[in-house]
Amino acid sequence: MTIYSGPVFDMAAKQFSVIADYLEIPIDQRDRLLLPKRAVTVACPIRRDDGTIAVFEGYRVQHHLTLGPTKGGTRFAPNVDLGEVSALAVWMSWKCAVTGLPYGGAKGGIRVDTKTLSRRELEVLSRRYMQELIPFVGPHIDVMAPDMGTDEQVMAWFMDTYSMHQGRTVTEIVTGKPVSAGGTLGRREATGRGVAHLARRVMKDLAIKEAGATAVVQGFGNVGSIAALELYNAGVKITAVSDHTGALHRKGGLDVPSLIAHTAQRGSLVGYSNELALDPNEILTQPCDVLVPAAVEQVIDAKVADLLQCRVLAEGANGPTTPDADLILQRRKDEIFVIPDIICNAGGVVVSYFEWVQDLAQLFWGEDEVVRRQYQILDHAFDVMVARARRDNVYNRTAAMATGVERVRAAKNTRGLFP
Ligand code: NAD
Repeated sequence: MTIYSGPVFDMAAKQFSVIADYLEIPIDQRDRLLLPKRAVTVACPIRRDDGTIAVFEGYRVQHHLTLGPTKGGTRFAPNVDLGEVSALAVWMSWKCAVTGLPYGGAKGGIRVDTKTLSRRELEVLSRRYMQELIPFVGPHIDVMAPDMGTDEQVMAWFMDTYSMHQGRTVTEIVTGKPVSAGGTLGRREATGRGVAHLARRVMKDLAIKEAGATAVVQGFGNVGSIAALELYNAGVKITAVSDHTGALHRKGGLDVPSLIAHTAQRGSLVGYSNELALDPNEILTQPCDVLVPAAVEQVIDAKVADLLQCRVLAEGANGPTTPDADLILQRRKDEIFVIPDIICNAGGVVVSYFEWVQDLAQLFWGEDEVVRRQYQILDHAFDVMVARARRDNVYNRTAAMATGVERVRAAKNTRGLFP
């Protein structure tokens, strides 16, 4: 039991203990690898449009400082808590390490339903959150990025707030900014693009032809909509999509560009079509070649894992699959190829890293360069995972996480234990 204990952190801890057993890490070295180095809780007061004052709880967790600054997204959602943010920070560490980035993992967030805020309230809350965290972040300390409920605009407000405090423009304090404010080309699309790229690689390996293949996407935000669009553009039929308002299904394939235009205008899938409606509880178990969970964590539990009818599970979301489901997916590994989250959705942090590098150097790359380098890193991490999974006859998640954990452990061992 730790201050982080809760369903999501317990899941990250359980996954870690599987890896620690596989790597034969001595018991006394495990907490040093798992427990977050720093966790900050802040109260963010804002004046609401009606003149009253409301206070929102915010968090920032920095998992380890061994390889460089920490890096991670900021989530604005009603159920954000310290345990969830800590688990996401831990996963970010393994993700950065498995892709060879010079970062530890971090994550932050505010417990808020953004749908209840006006645009002005969202801006003041974003700015106040960054203001409260100024003593704990910095371009060489901790660099934020978007996650669920936050976007480019929120990153621009974070950057502006930090810069006002410093008295100069500090674009490298956050990533996922608009290109007009020091962002990089290809960041908005990076995560979904990486998910689709790796899914297509696996399809090719499994000899699944793209033309006529099918995909189902849960979550139609930044990650889900771009992954769907990339697959759609490759000729894959997107037969079902969902968001927090409901799900849509069309056997012959949905018109993804028009769904994207609809969500851009209406904020969600609601009102797109009554005829195509599907029970959202059935989305994950639809028959398809590629299943992309791109919403929230823990949606694939043991029961769902048993019922999955996909050939490729491309994890766009962080932590969509519970450890109990993993046991089933390990058993079904000849039927379903799992691309684990820490590699599948790593395109986001990889291009965030490029954005940070470009901001520090003040030298900007073209989009082709960004995408080429992104795929090079993802492909390498994927190859290392597949080779290890084959060599040791282990599950893909075990192989991927073990590589990440091993890198962090090696850095800690080489640096030694201070003092
Ligand atoms: P987003 O806020 O842009 O979109 C989230 C989507 O999920 C929305 O369509 C929302 O309606 C939907 N959703 C929420 N709860 C749902 C539910 N219970 N069932 C179905 N749909 C639901 O967020 P995003 O940036 O696309 O992030 C999605 C996931 O991808 C998260 O797990 C996030 O941690 C992960 N991720 C994001 C990035 C990134 O660069 N944005 C990078 C790596 C991982």
